[in-house]
Amino acid sequence: MSDLLKQLNSNPLTGWLAKTLGLPNPVTLLREEGAYTAELFQGKTAVLATSSGGYVQESVRTTLEQAGATIKLTGELGEAQRPEILVVDATGLQSVEDYTLIYEQLQPLVRRIAVNGRVLMLAPPPEQAESVVASGVARGLEGFSRSLGKELGPRGITVNLAYVAPDAADRLDMVLRFFCGPQTAYVSGQTITVTAKTRTPGVLPREQLLAGKVALVTGAARGIGLATARRLHQEGATVIGLDIPAADEELQRVCKDLGATPLALDISASDAPQRLVKFIQENFGGLDILVHNAGITRDKTLGKMPEHFWQQVMQVNLAAIIAIDEALLNAQLIRDCGRLVYLSSMSGVAGNFGQTNYATTKAALIGYVAALGSTLSERGICANAVAPGFIETAMTDAMPFFTREAGRRLNSLKQGGQPRDVAELIGFLSSPGAVGVNGNTIRVCGQGLIGA
Ligand code: NAD
Repeated sequence: MSDLLKQLNSNPLTGWLAKTLGLPNPVTLLREEGAYTAELFQGKTAVLATSSGGYVQESVRTTLEQAGATIKLTGELGEAQRPEILVVDATGLQSVEDYTLIYEQLQPLVRRIAVNGRVLMLAPPPEQAESVVASGVARGLEGFSRSLGKELGPRGITVNLAYVAPDAADRLDMVLRFFCGPQTAYVSGQTITVTAKTRTPGVLPREQLLAGKVALVTGAARGIGLATARRLHQEGATVIGLDIPAADEELQRVCKDLGATPLALDISASDAPQRLVKFIQENFGGLDILVHNAGITRDKTLGKMPEHFWQQVMQVNLAAIIAIDEALLNAQLIRDCGRLVYLSSMSGVAGNFGQTNYATTKAALIGYVAALGSTLSERGICANAVAPGFIETAMTDAMPFFTREAGRRLNSLKQGGQPRDVAELIGFLSSPGAVGVNGNTIRVCGQGLIGA
């Protein structure tokens, strides 16, 4: 969709005007159009900042090396070098004095990180820290990484933090590949937790991550669902695209392009769970990936909201999802090591004017995945939510100009995201290598200022 400010800035005739008026000039984000490759970081320099007593250094080094990066410690970087990746092993941090290490290593470095670079901080989970002070110190890194994200965002650099349990150091490979790669162009200021609680699927692929997997994407006819269906297909998944019967023509077209199987079904119909169970049993025998993307808005302030607005949103965005999950899980149709991904929203994180109904359902999904993830971890199944911010879709393009401009600029990257950015995060959470990430909600919002 068109971004007027970017157009103004990129045109030599109008660029000077934008500059004279002091308008922001959003950086062009580097995105990946293809699938993951084993040597994802080929030609890139990665700097590793370390703390004594850190427990992830070995596995970080192994992944960065195997992915083709040239690794340097902070002191080893040449004057002219502009590293694309900075990984900070802060898992050894115990005391306030230890923060000095962060300052000393990162202060001289941050201004030298390349445009569109990546910073990933790795910290011990505060609840597993060895002392009360260590717990507070670990939590302090959230403030640090979010502030750094705001500082570096205008240069297209994303900054994220992963709390890594001591026994989960060997589950970082895919986490590093995603958060240090181009796939995370619009994911910044996020905190995730990596644990060893979920049963691992064994050998983890580095290319064609979803080969042999069957994935169902609801609401696949357009927008984020369409981008997701494409992205999962690109990684080798066999895709089932579901949408309402009224969108059948678009759905048929999309599915034909992807060699996917179309399924015209309203998820809120009372017989939808049973019909879905029958369809999966008869045609696929089970699902490895389920992306609950279909969702609707029926906006009105609560004082003016008709009951059917309330009920429709509850039904499509929440009740239908729960009913489908129950039916598929009871029928044993979610395979071991399956991946469940739910589309939440920034409204679910921060609330939004006129969206009491929508925000309730989207916040409920955050609570739902947090509880569901742990109940399924013995079978190796992960459930996570994705909360998009301002994504350039037909929906946001239809917003009034000033509302749209505000939504687009109120984030560290000063621009809207693309459906592909959301699909990248869903692709990561759908991959076997995301086994350490279960019950999390991750925003894809360019570090949106609202609800941060
Ligand atoms: P969209 O409206 O463009 O697409 C939604 C798709 O879901 C449509 O194809 C629609 O036909 C389908 N759908 C709706 N009701 C259905 C039902 N009952 N059964 C089956 N299919 C149904 O939406 P989008 O912008 O691509 O958003 C996708 C998801 O992401 C939604 O859950 C939305 O709430 C969430 N989200 C989007 C944004 C954004 O900026 N676009 C931001 C936050 C959250």
